[in-house]
Amino acid sequence: MSSLLETLKRNVAAVHESMAEACRVAGRSPGSVQLIAVTKYAPIEWIEGLISLGLDQFGENRPQQLIERQARWPQVQWHLIGHLQRNKAKSVLSATVLIHSVDSLRLAERLSETATGRVPILCEVNVSGEESKDGFPREELLSVWDRLTGLPGIEVRGLMTMAPFSDDPEAARPVFTHLRELRDVLRARAEGRLALPELSMGMSGDYEVAIQEGATLIRVGSRLFEGLE
Ligand SMILES: *Cc1c(COP(=O)(O)O)cnc(C)c1O
Repeated sequence: MSSLLETLKRNVAAVHESMAEACRVAGRSPGSVQLIAVTKYAPIEWIEGLISLGLDQFGENRPQQLIERQARWPQVQWHLIGHLQRNKAKSVLSATVLIHSVDSLRLAERLSETATGRVPILCEVNVSGEESKDGFPREELLSVWDRLTGLPGIEVRGLMTMAPFSDDPEAARPVFTHLRELRDVLRARAEGRLALPELSMGMSGDYEVAIQEGATLIRVGSRLFEGLE
């Protein structure tokens, strides 16, 4: 086995082990969390390595790169996790299994108009209120929620957020707790019509905390590629 593959294999195993441990701590079943490998900075060989190791969920933050990579590796599933402009909505639709980053009613409307069938999406929430972050402010999401979930061409599957950058994973915990509680509020408001099963939260530095707080999708990049250059 090449040293690239050995390093990837070790990193993937370490991430899987820590995911299982976080599930154990939280009393959750290990199958309730899915790892999405974020490949935005990964060259071709790293992606091929991860695919050969059996990973099948990948995330990209730029629509154009996602479209290219999905065409190259259609055997795995591609998640869009970064900002989407309305004029790119149509071209990205057929390439992605889930759009995590719907951050405005107008974008949701565009996706709904363009869709054939129902496109699964997550609403990105700017929990921390940092100006540099994309996502619906909480109040705005609450105020557009009924219109958004009434659009015929989309299926809102849950929420996504990014915690502020910090060296301390515990700093992210209140943000993740907040997202889960907001999901519970929205679920109650839908009175059984919307299950909102997905919470996309947690990155390399804080995914274990995110799992303890209920993440079902974690988006991990740099941790998988440690030791590679
Ligand atoms: C880059 C990125 C990630 C992964 O970040 P790492 O710290 O490398 O794990 C997760 N989510 C989004 C939206 C990203 O852009």
